[in-house]
Amino acid sequence: MSNRHVLVIGAGAAGLTAAIRAAESGARVTLLNAHPKPGLKILMSGGTRCNVTHQKVTERDYFGGSRNVVARILRAFDVQQTLDWFEDDMQVALKLEDTGKYFPLTDDANTVLDALLREAERAGVTLRGGQRVVRLTRVANGWRAGIQRVRDASSLGDAVSGSGQTEWPLPAIHPEAWEEADAVIVATGGLSYPRSGSDGTGYALLNSLGHTLTPPVPALVPLTADDPLCAAAQGVTTDVALTLHQKGAKPQKFEGSLLIAHFGYTGPVALDLSRHFSGADPATRRVTCNFLPHADHEWLLEDWLARADRESVRTVRRHLGTWLPDRLACELSWEAEIDPGRALPQVARARREKLFSNLLARDLRVTGTLGYERAEVTAGGVPLSEVDASTLESRVAPGLYLCGEVLDVEGRLGGFNFQWAWSSGTVAGRSAAKGRDAEREAAR
Ligand SMILES: Cc1cc2nc3c(=O)[nH]c(=O)nc-3n(C[C@H](O)[C@H](O)[C@H](O)COP(=O)(O)OP(=O)(O)OC[C@H]3O[C@@H](n4cnc5c(N)ncnc54)[C@H](O)[C@@H]3O)c2cc1C
Repeated sequence: MSNRHVLVIGAGAAGLTAAIRAAESGARVTLLNAHPKPGLKILMSGGTRCNVTHQKVTERDYFGGSRNVVARILRAFDVQQTLDWFEDDMQVALKLEDTGKYFPLTDDANTVLDALLREAERAGVTLRGGQRVVRLTRVANGWRAGIQRVRDASSLGDAVSGSGQTEWPLPAIHPEAWEEADAVIVATGGLSYPRSGSDGTGYALLNSLGHTLTPPVPALVPLTADDPLCAAAQGVTTDVALTLHQKGAKPQKFEGSLLIAHFGYTGPVALDLSRHFSGADPATRRVTCNFLPHADHEWLLEDWLARADRESVRTVRRHLGTWLPDRLACELSWEAEIDPGRALPQVARARREKLFSNLLARDLRVTGTLGYERAEVTAGGVPLSEVDASTLESRVAPGLYLCGEVLDVEGRLGGFNFQWAWSSGTVAGRSAAKGRDAEREAAR
């Protein structure tokens, strides 16, 4: 028994994991969560099914800080260990889907959260909901946290302001209670879905201790657009390649399924592109779409001419309908000023060229994103260079440990963000329970 008291701030996926690991390692653990209910994002995740992890996870699935550090943390608690932890230790049967994603067999995120809460209780973690840490200071041999009691959860989330902020002031709230500990783990998440309590207070606590922040921006978030295509083809889903262009940077390409919505674009490919759009130069960024990712101009022309030759009555609508949903085919045709009911041989060359250019690289007129209220994750956060790569202990404030989304790491869609939470939470929890002296002792 280490006899150390470890205080974990934030009971999301990362904080619950860190608390369990610290308690299993012998520490006395107190876990505080701003929202009265812990793990709210776990319940919302994966369409309420919770995509726990992915079949293959590497550092290349993540953005933000150093990939070497990410790789090291993932190695410390990898996918196989995660599967064993859920299935053997917590009795959560998982299933692997064709997409490579793992979900609980029950298709119910409650199964995952309930198991984590049971495991925390079994390990002896004291969990207190509705307790928001608003101050964090060093005392002689450890830490002192000032706590606000959250009586009304609807008051959470107001602290969030615009993107790209690097300074976060502490909330002007006088703490009602204090908690002392030998070590503190900050697992306060980013800014997405701020009503869950991830409202930037964690950033303010870390700022007040001397940490810097890579400016946070919403990621894995739907894109807004000022595009008539959205009204005309609302509800259509199709496989595309999107390219993000900005002045002075190499274009970035993303492939996958696009869902056209009344407000703009969503679906996996739009979500994966969003973090790059949020971080790109607002003056020059634009997104183009290739609706036929496996075709090029030469192939389109040859195919068109051959069809027109063989089948003189074949309409544009029918021709495009080979690859595209009907409503989208008709709209793209009208945009090129071609009546979709017109036969291929009757289409003027200039209009046909306009249609090809729309099919292969149409500007989607993206204006922004739906913001933190609808972002699955936050890009940015505390730079990995400010933590020890093997323990996740702060280099700025020794005795403080960080894990989860509060760090400048975010994964692509598919279970990668939870894997980061399980891996980084495990490392931070075990390290905080041991403390530096024990580690030095062990290294001797
Ligand atoms: C709708 C949605 C669907 C998602 N689906 C998936 C998915 O299927 N697979 C996947 O891998 N990822 C998914 N994600 C992303 C994933 O949920 C997050 O990356 C992950 O939950 C981050 O965990 P975390 O513990 O770092 O932060 P969070 O889950 O944000 O938890 C932080 C906790 O800290 C608390 N807190 C904040 N500040 C304080 C404070 N000052 N004092 C005390 N407590 C505080 C909050 O109340 C919160 O409970 C999804 C996210 C969303 C929003």
